Formats: sequence, structure tokens, C-alpha cells
Amino acid sequence: MNTPSPIDRSRSAELFEAAKGYFPGGVNSPVRAFKSVGGTPLFIAKGDGAQIWDEDGNQFIDFCCSWGPLIHGHNHPHVFEKIVGSLQNGASFGAPTRKENELAAFMLERLPFIDKIRFTSSGTEAVMSALRLARGATGKNKILKFEGCYHGHVDALLVKAGSGLVTFGTSSSAGVPEAFANETLVLPLNDADALTKCFETQHQDLAAVIIEPIPANNGLLLQDKSFLNLLRSLCTKYGVLLIFDEVISGFRVAFGGAAELFGITPDIVTYGKIIGGGLPVGAYGAKKEIMANVSPEGPVYQAGTLSGNPVAMAAGLAQLELCAAEDFYIKQAQRTQQFVDSINSFALAQQYPMELVCVGSIFWFSFNGKKRITAADQIDGDMTAFNFMHHYLLNVGVYFGPSGYEVGFVSSVHTDAQLAFSAEQIKAALAAFYQK
Ligand SMILES: *Cc1c(COP(=O)(O)O)cnc(C)c1O
Repeated sequence: MNTPSPIDRSRSAELFEAAKGYFPGGVNSPVRAFKSVGGTPLFIAKGDGAQIWDEDGNQFIDFCCSWGPLIHGHNHPHVFEKIVGSLQNGASFGAPTRKENELAAFMLERLPFIDKIRFTSSGTEAVMSALRLARGATGKNKILKFEGCYHGHVDALLVKAGSGLVTFGTSSSAGVPEAFANETLVLPLNDADALTKCFETQHQDLAAVIIEPIPANNGLLLQDKSFLNLLRSLCTKYGVLLIFDEVISGFRVAFGGAAELFGITPDIVTYGKIIGGGLPVGAYGAKKEIMANVSPEGPVYQAGTLSGNPVAMAAGLAQLELCAAEDFYIKQAQRTQQFVDSINSFALAQQYPMELVCVGSIFWFSFNGKKRITAADQIDGDMTAFNFMHHYLLNVGVYFGPSGYEVGFVSSVHTDAQLAFSAEQIKAALAAFYQK
């Protein structure tokens, strides 16, 4: 069996040692620490197109793409030019700028289900604000979420299903009071009966339901369309607001995200990642009657020193302009499907118990045999195969996010040759693992 010889990562290792003295666990966001796959993280020195280079000068084809924002890869010339152009006029003013109008107009023209938006500086902030808006607009307190959906590190959503018959959540992070967690109900994904029962018994207290319509932060848990339709109709029937958290799926599977792809209208939607072109931006939006609750128009307070930052707005607009090109999403989906099919047909022929799941240009390595997985508790927690593959691929110049629960992304600038090379390396890694 051929396993590639390890690349030199000594400079990254040194930087990580130093970082441990500065940051908890050496990082500013936990999954970066490589705890899940083992070993120590790469320190990235630069990126260009679909490639990144680490501090030791190793080169990688990047399928992490900053966890999703970089749908046109690193330093796309159009995005780069707009960022630099904006920066020449100053970095931030804390006063309105034309750039905010431009990005908002570009989005709202193409997103028929929302009339107004508010920009924030991260996806977490967008979700946090959307929950406050839903509570403010309905005068109710409880929120329903689904096990396996990630909505950022919002207190009320760092919650897992409690034990017993009640679906009230218990906090999944220290520092979140049980009293907060008790305001959140948790259900399994794709379970129509549990959902219907929950609405029947809890609807009078429910302000909103929040879901990733394409759950992509804990595997890629594609839902039955009928489940999402049921959710929409129950929310309508009982006067509960439906929040689509499209921080990862927005502008990724279609310009209008999962809402457009499935033709389902949310009451409130949250965005992030792609919307900022690699700079920190989030947003939440809704019909104007709901958005009228937001300060200073209404009583729901929400603010931000750097909200609507002009450089970030310029980056976001540049990126979304490229996304709005004709057939952009069709092409992205086709190229991704081809990449995925090539690996899947190999795995099937070799009878390996794995399969890539994909939608649009998002894909996930599912080491669950050929079983379709729609809920968090169906995922096989044994990540040995993924972890082996991850290390193997680093040594041959292919970079994935360092956890088997994370998805990969194909950008518009991954070339056919880069995709073909990566597919061959993935097949070789799988062969090396299963023939051990
Ligand atoms: C990434 C993500 C968030 C959190 O966004 P941050 O910018 O990391 O705060 C929230 N919801 C979903 C669905 C996400 O994918």
C-alpha cells in the first residue's frame, strides 16, 4: 500500500506552539485546532484562486474555502479590485454609505420573499437578532430548533435535546443558563410526527422555528421536501414565524438559497458567509411589516459599530454580482456533481461503505454505507476513515476542513484539472484506507 510521505510542517507547528500562549487552545475558533482529525493545524500564508499555501510553502487545492464564504476562490480579481477601491476611501465611518444601499438593492431585487434587510458583522449576530425580532414581533418567547442544525454560538441555540418526553433543551455549552436553554425546544430533523405533535402542544408559546433548510454544519443532512413543506404549513396554521438560517446555503445552492431552490417562503431569513466576499458580514431580512419592528423604526433594539462596513459591502456586492451571472448555479451544481459522481462510482465499484452527498456546490463525505442520512443521530460517529483520508490528502496537496462533520465546497475557480486531480487523490486515499 502506498501512503505519501509527510510534508514538512515545522513552521506551522512552531506558530501553533506560540499561538497556544496567546489564544485558548491556540485558535480563535475551535474547529481550526485540528482536534477532530488529530495533529496540529496548518497556518495559512496566502491564497490565490482555488489554492492556498501554508507557512512552510506547501501548496494545497482548497475545498474549505474559509468554510463557505469564498464561492469565487481567493483573491478573485473582481472582488479584490472592489475591496481595494473601497479601502482607498477609508475603512469605516459609522455613518450611512452608498455601498450599503447598493448591496441591499442588488439583493432585494433578486430575493422576492424579503422586503428589507439589516446588515450585521457575522452569521451568529444575524441569527441572534432574528430571534429577538421574532420574539418582539410575536410577543412570544419559545423557539424551536432541530438537533444537528448549527446557528452560530447564540446562547439560546447552544442547546441539545433534553431527556424524556418533553422536548425542552438543555444547554450544550458551559455558561448558558438552563433558564435560557428552557426557552428552546429541540426536535430531531425530518420527523414529521414529532413536529406535528410539538406544534399541537406548544404553539401558543412558540415565537419561531429556526432551521437550516439545508443542514450543512453536522454532515449534510438533506431533508425531505415534504418535511420542509409541513414545517411551512404548520407555521402558517399556528401563527409561528419560520426562520430559514441560510448563512451557509444562501447564495450557495441558488442566489436565493434553499428558499429559492425549494420554492418555500420563510418569514425571516438570515445570511452570512458568501454575502461578505471573505469579509465579516451577516444579514437578516423579512417582509416590511416584520422588519418594521426593528429599531429605530420599532421597539426591537439591534445595532453594530461596524455594521454595513463599506469595505465589506463592496466585497459582498462584487461577489454577488458574479453569482448573478446567467446559469451560474446550474454550472456550479453540474461541476460538483461530476466531481462527486467520479468518486462515488469508484467507491461503489470497490464496495467501500462511503458515499459523497451533495447539493449545489456543497458536498460531504458520508461514511455511513449507502444509507441516506437525514438526522443527526443517524451519523456514524466513527470518523477513523475521514481522519485517515484528511491526513493523506494534506500530504498530496488537497485541503479539507479538519473534521468529518464538515462539508466541502467547490468554488467557481476550481479548474477541471484541479477537480480531476483531487478526485484521483481522494480515490487513492480511500483505497489506502480500505486496503489496510
Ligand atoms: C456559519 C453559520 C453560522 C454562524 O455564522 P458566523 O459568521 O460563524 O457567526 C450560523 N448559521 C449557519 C447555518 C452557519 O453555517
